[in-house]
Amino acid sequence: MRMNPYSIGVDLGGTNLRVAAIDESGVILHRVSIPANYLAGPDRIIDQIVSIVSEVRAEADLTSLRGVGIGVPGFIDMKTGVVVGSANLPGFEGFPVRDEIQKHLNTSIILENDANAAALGEMWMGAGRSYKDLILLTLGTGIGGGIVLDGRVFHGAQGMAGEFGHMTVFPEGNPCGCGNYGCLEKHASATAIAAMGRMMHFGPEVNTAADVFALAEQGNTRAIMVFEAMGRALGIALANLINVFNLPLYLISGGPLPAWDLFAPSMFKEIRRRAFTFVRTGARVEKALLGADAGLFGAAYLPFQ
Ligand SMILES: [Zn+2]
Repeated sequence: MRMNPYSIGVDLGGTNLRVAAIDESGVILHRVSIPANYLAGPDRIIDQIVSIVSEVRAEADLTSLRGVGIGVPGFIDMKTGVVVGSANLPGFEGFPVRDEIQKHLNTSIILENDANAAALGEMWMGAGRSYKDLILLTLGTGIGGGIVLDGRVFHGAQGMAGEFGHMTVFPEGNPCGCGNYGCLEKHASATAIAAMGRMMHFGPEVNTAADVFALAEQGNTRAIMVFEAMGRALGIALANLINVFNLPLYLISGGPLPAWDLFAPSMFKEIRRRAFTFVRTGARVEKALLGADAGLFGAAYLPFQ
């Protein structure tokens, strides 16, 4: 059977190891998701990746495969394909992920940081489809994201560009594990929303960001205040990014996205107040579209670049 060129994307680091064959027009041909046991170490995980990719490749067609892209939650030496550091993948530091996989699969293997891959995925098949330049902010346990310039990830000199979670938004704000005070992720991540909820003493049943959101939706004014505070921190960070980058599009994704209507007003208020370039340049701040699939699409996009 003749078919369109396709690639295989691998999303590493979540609770599931996810693999999908996606053709060049963005259609998912085949996808597999299996529970991942990262504690088993890199050799075992590499074996799993190789066997799933082989399986997915057999379901598609061998000749049209352009390569395999892998989103990795960590810092990657882009030249050598070695994972330099990862909090989520124990034992992967210094491990030559790309070469080990390439040994078993006779196709090109491209690694990318998972947050950067998500930004690429949104550009390819999500909210950034008509754009070549965008920034994606993903709100989760922390805040990560990626910068895409002219259709490609901007890595910075050592691959550490896009650490949005550690932008200072309040000089004397909450302490952060990185050693700084007032980092964006200490004021606007899902973790921060949950922590503010606990400080509000809503009760023992209110523990997560989703719990605080549910309370806000019921009209609880103090729960609404939590999202106003979170939107304010996000707006300050975005204003700085808009003033510095002059990109046409800034996307927000992650678990707190359903609370958009609660945090967006204070977010836009701060942006208008602090970024004179916002209105002047017609920059857009919008919801991302792909959710947890953004990284998978972005990984699959890598071989098409
Ligand atoms: Zn920090």
